[in-house]
Amino acid sequence: MTEPGARPTHDESHGGALGSRLNWLRAAVLGANDGVVSTAGLVVGVAGATDDRSTLLTAGLAGLLAGSMSMAAGEYVSVSTQRDSEKAAIAMEKRELTEQPDAELEELTDLLEERGLSREVAREAAEQLTERDALRAHARVELGIDPDDLTNPWHAAWASFLAFTVGALLPLLAIVLPPSAWRLPVTVCSVLVALAFTGYVSARMGSAAVRPAVWRNVGGGALAMAVTYAAGSLLGAAGV
Ligand SMILES: [Zn+2]
Repeated sequence: MTEPGARPTHDESHGGALGSRLNWLRAAVLGANDGVVSTAGLVVGVAGATDDRSTLLTAGLAGLLAGSMSMAAGEYVSVSTQRDSEKAAIAMEKRELTEQPDAELEELTDLLEERGLSREVAREAAEQLTERDALRAHARVELGIDPDDLTNPWHAAWASFLAFTVGALLPLLAIVLPPSAWRLPVTVCSVLVALAFTGYVSARMGSAAVRPAVWRNVGGGALAMAVTYAAGSLLGAAGV
């Protein structure tokens, strides 16, 4: 009993956990990227209109908090909804397993056969899986979810809050710390370098071509800063 029990756990740490760790990492990089771009656009725009350090700090900090909380709330809502529908699907599966176990065994056999097993082997495998943990087997094979490893909405919310905050801190510090003549060059350069890095990392993690991904990411950030700086300068010159 111990040996067959140990195997699925081993497989899981290779497939499931590694896959979900990569997903988390990818989400963290994208969240940080959002924090960099939106906060950079904000503080550069305000810097177009004013030279006042405390105004810049206030605007940047408000942008950081608003953005990170909005990301966290959005993530919480979407993961909660996903989790609810996964729980509902598992509950339905549980009911079906008690009400019509034969049909469910047949269904599992068909699914395993579709995955490339012969009819006899599929039947044998379905019987063993059903004997060991029928609900888990149906959840994984039929629904593609692991009932013991549903994503926690609070974890997801915290992770995106932190990721956005880390990204947002870069342009915030870059605009506030240097002397006023150096603010814009320091901010623009550090933001573009950071965006090249996040573009590189997310392209590598998604196995996409690196160069176009880096240029798109850097170009998007540069455009955002150019647009908000122009808008801020116009407003500042108009004395708004
Ligand atoms: Zn089923």
